[in-house]
Amino acid sequence: MSTIFSQIVDGEIPARVVYEDETTIAFLDANPLAPGHTLVIPKDEYERLNDVPEDVASDLYATIHRLIPAVEDAVDADASTVAFNNGSEAGQEVPHVHCHIIPRFEGDGGGPIHGVAGEPPSLDDDELDEIEADISSRA
Ligand code: AMP
Repeated sequence: MSTIFSQIVDGEIPARVVYEDETTIAFLDANPLAPGHTLVIPKDEYERLNDVPEDVASDLYATIHRLIPAVEDAVDADASTVAFNNGSEAGQEVPHVHCHIIPRFEGDGGGPIHGVAGEPPSLDDDELDEIEADISSRA
């Protein structure tokens, strides 16, 4: 069963498409958090960023890079929040990688992405050393 975004890619359901190339497509979010709220996706279905092959990741970022100024300029935004909910525990509802470009305006009442996680952890130097080493050994 294909995701709702694959159905958009295949033209089975309508969307307000603002950009499309061979491997990526961008369209307006159906429930915008701000005017111009845009989603950028790879046309092929990958659930999480972790699953996206390097060449597709590169194409995806190129489209995001292209769309950020286009979206901001179109709605005269002061800034934008650009983010992925990567996995259901992080709030991802559609299991098809998508980047949110959310235009931001001075005084819009929104917050920074620092607010998305729960209570910040208290980590001592030993714990930070361990995490640093663990991540770098896997990178
Ligand atoms: P997420 O919570 O990161 O998975 O976000 C999914 C986003 O997809 C939400 O902002 C929805 O409003 C949006 N969305 C769901 N269905 C559609 C659709 N058919 N067309 C455009 N946007 C959609």
